[in-house]
Amino acid sequence: MKSPVLVAAELQGLLEPDQLAGLDVTWLPADDATPKGDWIAIVPLLSRWVGGTELKQLPKLRIVANCAVGYDNVDVVAAEMRKVIVTNTPDVLTDATADLTWTLILACARRLVEAIDLVRDGRWAGWHPELLLGLELRGRTLGLFGAGRIGQAVGRRAVPFGLRIIYAARTAKPDFERDSGAARVDWSRLLAESDILSLHAPSTPETKGLINSGTLRRMKPGAILVNTARGDLIREEALAIALEEARLGAVGLDVYADEPAIHPRLRAAPRTVLLPHIGSATNDTRRKMAAIALANVQAVLRGEPPLTPVFR
Ligand code: NAP
Repeated sequence: MKSPVLVAAELQGLLEPDQLAGLDVTWLPADDATPKGDWIAIVPLLSRWVGGTELKQLPKLRIVANCAVGYDNVDVVAAEMRKVIVTNTPDVLTDATADLTWTLILACARRLVEAIDLVRDGRWAGWHPELLLGLELRGRTLGLFGAGRIGQAVGRRAVPFGLRIIYAARTAKPDFERDSGAARVDWSRLLAESDILSLHAPSTPETKGLINSGTLRRMKPGAILVNTARGDLIREEALAIALEEARLGAVGLDVYADEPAIHPRLRAAPRTVLLPHIGSATNDTRRKMAAIALANVQAVLRGEPPLTPVFR
């Protein structure tokens, strides 16, 4: 008999038939509520909250195979209490997300949105020595908040740009320091010394709201802030005010506190590069993410350990 599983309908085009072998799949569109029933696995997108209520509605559930590396959409404590395994999709999205972070860093530093708008709107009046002057990267300081897989990949890409690299994380990263020359600093120094501050920590009770009116005032005047981690690390209204008052040089965001809504004041603020959460959006990466999520389901259904549990 095939095993009944719930899989996000949006993954259908990314999965091959052999990855679904032995599964009786119910495709669950993102806008539909999580149903009640006897499914034994669920493969959600990061937009689906899987908490105590949902877990209770799925009494036979054995695994939540999240199709993302972040798992702040899953109540892992409630899952553990019900002996439900939680897995994520680490590593395969690291390069794609680091590349997109660099897309934002460069777009902010060289004022790409303003430049594109100038040309597209027909307002460009020709070469001018002071037209759209940006930030030269060489010799500046890149600060990383969080230096795990993605933070380190962003840092390693900074070496050929001639940036000095500093990072804040809970534990030291000696290999990363050796390869990139990065120095570990505390949060206060990270805020005060970064010309570019890039966020790469998960959303947790400790990191939520970390960028707020107080911490924004401790950043260097004219600094660039980039966030490809999770939106709720930033208080969006405070960020909009910092941009309106020209205290920051530019902000590049891929993620927001209440996606797909963006705080109207932030959407209207100057010097922003706002992307629609596409950090891992390459063809290869999205296929690999879906493949790992389903491989985790298949392993657990065979009675084997999952490939990528969030807790070992
Ligand atoms: P990771 O390898 O687990 O790295 C997370 C880093 O954050 C680690 O260095 C960790 O420190 C640090 N950290 C955690 N809590 C901290 C705290 N309170 N203070 C300081 N540092 C803290 O995760 P990853 O694979 O790099 O992914 C990072 C995040 O990126 C994910 O959680 C996800 O939310 C986001 N993401 C977004 C996209 C997108 O599409 N935009 C794509 C992929 C991932 P330790 O190493 O010392 O524990």
